[in-house]
Amino acid sequence: MIVGNDERRPDLRRMDMRYRRLGSSGLQVSELSLGSWLTFGKLITDDTAEALMKLAYDNGINFFDNAEIYSRGESERVMGRILKKMEWPRDTWVVSSKVFFGAGGKLPTQVGLHRKHVMEACHDALDRLQVEHLDLYFCHRPDPNTPIAETVWTMHSLIMQGKVMYWGTSEWSAKEIAEAHAVAEQHHLIGPVMEQPQYNLFHRGKVEKEFAPLYDTVGLGTTIWSPLASGVLSGKHSLEGDASSRLRAAGLDWLRERELTEARLKKVDELKAIAMGLDLPLPVFAIAWCLKNPRVSTVILGASKTTQLEENLKAVVAQDLLTPEVMARVEEVIAGESLTTWS
Ligand code: NDP
Repeated sequence: MIVGNDERRPDLRRMDMRYRRLGSSGLQVSELSLGSWLTFGKLITDDTAEALMKLAYDNGINFFDNAEIYSRGESERVMGRILKKMEWPRDTWVVSSKVFFGAGGKLPTQVGLHRKHVMEACHDALDRLQVEHLDLYFCHRPDPNTPIAETVWTMHSLIMQGKVMYWGTSEWSAKEIAEAHAVAEQHHLIGPVMEQPQYNLFHRGKVEKEFAPLYDTVGLGTTIWSPLASGVLSGKHSLEGDASSRLRAAGLDWLRERELTEARLKKVDELKAIAMGLDLPLPVFAIAWCLKNPRVSTVILGASKTTQLEENLKAVVAQDLLTPEVMARVEEVIAGESLTTWS
């Protein structure tokens, strides 16, 4: 047992949310946020989506993540209906969308980061989410067919029009982000504030290595995705998978093959032993580990059940248990684990 003194142990029943600045911007986002990929409009019912958002909001989560491609626009429609029904004051939550992959159509005019698609996609996202502005708008991937300057000008225009508050990128390289900032600086435009990279115990390269020069120079914030590697870091999976999980869902074989490997399951067992020493469930431990990185602005959670979200919310308080000694033991387990970048 690493933590022997119960008096010093934080009370995990308290689910106090904490907030961090989104990079150098003045916007404060909750340390944990809620995403909708593969869940809203796809693997869960709308009632479950509503229960998840309510649980999240009631526990201080203020950021809900979405994208045009998620369930081909349906995820935004579901979230929009829930936001409308809940009637939470608009100044108490932050909602995002992402542009690049399109909402189903695959014609060259319907995808990418050129001015036409970015403008049209923004208007469509506003309609589906039933909001007057997107708080965060991400370029979901870099677009080799559009000059970065065109995208920067378009995002700046959307901000000037009051349709977007902050814009950012997702899975862009450090070089591409730096180029966007150079264009913005040259023309006195608003540059990207945040990047949405994958970050978890198995994927550390972009956040820990590649982006390192950007945090202090351009003030990059990060809204990190898949903190549990699609559930593998929950510790519930075997190679056969868990029949009720996304890794067994029809059409998601590619995801199972990517995330669920024998080598990873071995690491999961070792990480579970460390988590158990702190009396923490592995998913709480794995999310708390992400929060230990001060360069992370918010950890976007995914959940298919309210019980999962309830458990994961404990990570905010649990991060205080991850002492330098614990972090060093984790490092031994994951040493060499994907400091390369994801593609
Ligand atoms: P995770 O890696 O945390 O995976 C979430 C899934 O893990 C859940 O849906 C659930 O799946 C399982 N799970 C979560 N908590 C528990 C628990 N306590 N016990 C057991 N199983 C658990 O996050 P996501 O991959 O969902 O990513 C989070 C968000 O990040 C997305 O919703 C999206 O908004 C964003 N994202 C962005 C991307 C980008 O390119 N910008 C790419 C991917 C995600 P199940 O019950 O099915 O096993």
